[in-house]
Amino acid sequence: MPRQGKATRVAVVGATGSVGRSVLDICARFPDRFKVTALAARSSADSLLELAVRFGARKAFLTEPPAGAAKKFAELGIDMTAGAGGLSEIAELPDADNVVFASSGALAIKSLQLALRAGKDVSLANKESVVAAGPWVMPLVKRPDQLRPLDSEHSAIWQCIRGEPRKELESVTLTASGGPFRDLTLDEMKRVTPEDALKHPVWDMGAKITVDSASLMNKGIECIEAMHLFGLPHDRVRAVIHPGSCVHGIAAFSDGTSKMVAYRPDMRIPAAAALAWPDRLPLAQSSEFAFPGFGAGVSLDFYPPDPARFPCLGIALEAGRKGGAYPPILVGADEFAVRAFLDKRIPFLGISNIIESTLEKYSGPAPSTLEDAIELISLGGRMAGEACASMGG
Ligand code: NDP
Ligand code: MG
Repeated sequence: MPRQGKATRVAVVGATGSVGRSVLDICARFPDRFKVTALAARSSADSLLELAVRFGARKAFLTEPPAGAAKKFAELGIDMTAGAGGLSEIAELPDADNVVFASSGALAIKSLQLALRAGKDVSLANKESVVAAGPWVMPLVKRPDQLRPLDSEHSAIWQCIRGEPRKELESVTLTASGGPFRDLTLDEMKRVTPEDALKHPVWDMGAKITVDSASLMNKGIECIEAMHLFGLPHDRVRAVIHPGSCVHGIAAFSDGTSKMVAYRPDMRIPAAAALAWPDRLPLAQSSEFAFPGFGAGVSLDFYPPDPARFPCLGIALEAGRKGGAYPPILVGADEFAVRAFLDKRIPFLGISNIIESTLEKYSGPAPSTLEDAIELISLGGRMAGEACASMGG
């Protein structure tokens, strides 16, 4: 909750990454509103140290610190905790009101649970947590808007449903730019390289999510994320291609009304929405953020994704429909397959083949605990490794 008349104290997990830096950019622009108290990353010690100094954060956390990191932090009077245990500590820090989860991977799931249990406001970018462990995360949300989506599509939908009775929400639609391969033929897609996949036409993001955006796996994962965040069944969550990338999410209501939220494709805008809720920050005073307006060449075209060229979307939607073990297996298999593609061990279209064959092969039970779900993510990765080896990757 906003502290009356006081700055919101912000802790950022994944501070050195693409989303983490967007969040910090907003904090830097509004120093009277936000005070950064703690920062965490995996191993980028120098970048984390530089951020901690710049923002005056006195606590830092590195889950896999390189040799000599502790000394550098200590020399500058910053208390650095090493190891995965620090993620539990940052979730519960007394001097953090809003804990931002902008790390990649699944290691922060338990930390996210702790932050919600501790009653913190949580700004969530990390998709893996909700997709793989939604049944163990969502029940911990104690009050409306305690969990604030940072992902642009989910932020847009969250903004659409502000003040609307939840029972009137019929369906949600997430938009996708279509990525760098939107207009390629299937034949051309067989030959694309990691360098091609990393050239996203609209968003500047971390490598994993950029490849997921090129395959539309990102949109499939986001649809599962939306099912959990908005409490909707699979058949009420849709994805459309919207090359203009100005509308991010659409919510349709029971009386036939739809609301869409549009803004420049810049993660700092949903970051500001999550940090400042229920207020809006005066970003649009700067031309960097101001929306150009619908008469200014902003295109409002929408069309359905092509399942033949982008099979990952359908694979993810099917995993979301089945639920149980399939979403965590999907997360683990995708993590592996994207790494294998980036390492040039498999072609781009091999990503969907590996994930599909992993999901088809799985025949075990649904997870009954969070630990089971986390183990299924690892199992998905191992099974994808076997599928990759059997395909010669
Ligand atoms: P990046 O690869 O740019 O950054 C990842 C960040 O997470 C880095 O700070 C990294 O630290 C940190 N990190 C990774 N593993 C751990 C760990 N075990 N413990 C602590 N920190 C860790 O990723 P993005 O910013 O692109 O994405 C982050 C998350 O947000 C992903 O889940 C992604 O799907 C989601 N997301 C991203 C969007 C975007 O625009 N980029 C949009 C919406 C959602 P280090 O630098 O030390 O490796
Ligand atoms: Mg998104």
